[in-house]
Amino acid sequence: MKKLKIAIQKSGRLSDDSVKLFKACGIKFEVGKSKLMSESKNFPAEFLFLRDDDIPGYVADGVADVGIVGDNVLVEHECHVNRVKSLGFSKCRLSLAVSRDVDYSGVSYFEGKSIATSYPNILGKFLKENGVNAQIHFISGSVEIAPGIGLAEGVCDIVSTGGTLLSNGLKEVEPIFNSEAILIANNSLSKEKLELLDRIVFRMNAVQTADTHKYVLLNAPNDKIERIINIMPGMKSPTITPLAKEGWSSIHSVLKESDFWENIEAMRNMGAEGILVIPIEKMIF
Ligand code: ATP
Ligand code: MG
Repeated sequence: MKKLKIAIQKSGRLSDDSVKLFKACGIKFEVGKSKLMSESKNFPAEFLFLRDDDIPGYVADGVADVGIVGDNVLVEHECHVNRVKSLGFSKCRLSLAVSRDVDYSGVSYFEGKSIATSYPNILGKFLKENGVNAQIHFISGSVEIAPGIGLAEGVCDIVSTGGTLLSNGLKEVEPIFNSEAILIANNSLSKEKLELLDRIVFRMNAVQTADTHKYVLLNAPNDKIERIINIMPGMKSPTITPLAKEGWSSIHSVLKESDFWENIEAMRNMGAEGILVIPIEKMIF
């Protein structure tokens, strides 16, 4: 049986969550500091541990069949791959930043100035769209020091909290690209490998849905059940079982995390008691 070759970052901000996701999908493999490759024992997959910058190219060339990479790196490298699915982790943004004491008025500030970045393509496209002519200085790392050493007047770099910018005397002025981890695949996978990918995506969907839902159990007087279940959309409909206490029932259902608190508060106001909220490990529709 052909194995699906899966490229993930060896060590960095994508690694832990990538490994965690495959493990949550029940795919077992070993991760070691010196390991460059690892075969799964319980799924026809082989993991390649690479630098994130190399992943889009390897997947495009078919050296790897699928991979996980930040959208920022994917778009910057302009590789032709299939964007299978957004994964919701390693969220960050690419932003323009300038020295803290600059009185920034808008993008036109950058007209005629120089900007240091590791993302010349994404930045170039942004400047063009905004009709700004600026000089782009490519640096592969430690971009934040560029203004301090007089290399550039601005930088375009990854920001998550802004702490690194701040400690280098910079301030974020213009977010230009939002990124998160993406599952990508080679454009011409064999039927066999596509089937393996489908199995993985099916499992990832189950894990992701479970993460955003909670299993809720509560007790309510029978005359309140109808109102309560109206705001309680379950996977199909809630399960209702009578309690030993006369006139009361127990209601079980699944709630979405996003509107969870509003729904719980409303149910309490309608007479629900003894509310239990339980995390769900996997959820399959
Ligand atoms: P490599 O050695 O593999 O080339 P790297 O140093 O280029 O690693 P990392 O810093 O590990 O890359 O970041 C990998 C990806 O994680 C980035 O391309 C981006 O998508 C995302 N990322 C970067 N910084 C953050 C952050 N502060 N918070 C969340 N996600 C981030
Ligand atoms: Mg890198």
